[in-house]
Amino acid sequence: MGGTEKAYVDEAFDTNWIAPLGPHVNGLEDAISNYLSLSDEKLFTAALTSGTAAIHLALVMLGVEAGDYVICQSFTFCGTANPIRYQDAIPIMVDSEKDTWNMCPIALKEAIEDCIAEGKKPKAIMPVHLYGMPAKMDEINAIAESYGIPIVEDAAEALGSMLFGKACGSLATLSILSFNGNKIITTSGGGALVSNQKDYADKARFLSTQARDNAPHYQHSEIGYNYRMSNVVAGIGRGQMEVLDLRVSQRRANNHRYREFFRGIDGVSFQNEPSDDYYSNYWLTAILIDPVVTGITREDVRLALEAENIEARPLWKPMHLQPVFEGCKFFGNGVCEELFENGLCLPSGSNLTDVEFERIFGVLQILFK
Ligand SMILES: *Cc1c(COP(=O)(O)O)cnc(C)c1O
Repeated sequence: MGGTEKAYVDEAFDTNWIAPLGPHVNGLEDAISNYLSLSDEKLFTAALTSGTAAIHLALVMLGVEAGDYVICQSFTFCGTANPIRYQDAIPIMVDSEKDTWNMCPIALKEAIEDCIAEGKKPKAIMPVHLYGMPAKMDEINAIAESYGIPIVEDAAEALGSMLFGKACGSLATLSILSFNGNKIITTSGGGALVSNQKDYADKARFLSTQARDNAPHYQHSEIGYNYRMSNVVAGIGRGQMEVLDLRVSQRRANNHRYREFFRGIDGVSFQNEPSDDYYSNYWLTAILIDPVVTGITREDVRLALEAENIEARPLWKPMHLQPVFEGCKFFGNGVCEELFENGLCLPSGSNLTDVEFERIFGVLQILFK
């Protein structure tokens, strides 16, 4: 927490605004829209209970129905892919490329062509900015546009990241954010849907409050959801938005520190910004350990850290390798499988202290030198 969150929450209690609407919800939505709108473009935000809920509503609004194809980056957290199944739609998993570790435009094109050859154009494409690294959205957007397929941009991990000077979370008609406890800023749990079309944000607010028609009694012409963020939680979010830039600089400083440590150690590489056009919030610092060059595996490193009560985690296990998505189609040549095999997320909290870094480096020193 940054410090002002409690004041916002107290205000919600003092004014008795404990409902799933209220001034903090509006205030947070405005803060997000303003933060993401780096150009003249106006953005519209609907604050929701989670990033997963935001993805679900995006698919509902795009008319995704049972049996439809939805293309998904395989290398991601299950929150991206699960809502495809909520709609009884069929996920088509696409591999990553090596530059950003995100959706490979070549594999994306293959996947689209395969669906079209079957006579079923995909209803949506879901790229992800993993660990804060912007995906190649210029290429992905161009492909999606050429086929007329909408994009749902999963920016859950990339608030504060930029591509070509535009904010992640504003790089598609429909974008989603997460404020889960582990993200760069948090409301304890929460999310948002962002669009440059007011209608989408309005529709998301409508659907997230049980799709209530304009009538004095409770009247419903559509199936709705209970996905709206509460005013108490939004108070935390307003305080967190005030420290977002500070959190980005802290995460980037962590990343820099790890790079300094591994400088000159062969066989360890980082997830890198491919050029100056990319700006990652470096939500998590992720490395690849080449077992042939270093003589150790990522599990050796993870377990050595764990033995000292330091948590590090393997990268996301690709969705096409998950039991729950067994049998789904996958397009690519195994880049994300290799990333999962050799990759590790290092401790990356915004509040890591010098003493904690010394403990981490102490363990790594013994392994790598
Ligand atoms: C966290 C996350 C989500 C889901 O967000 P929740 O708020 O936890 O539902 C979706 N996609 C990615 C890539 C995430 O990291």
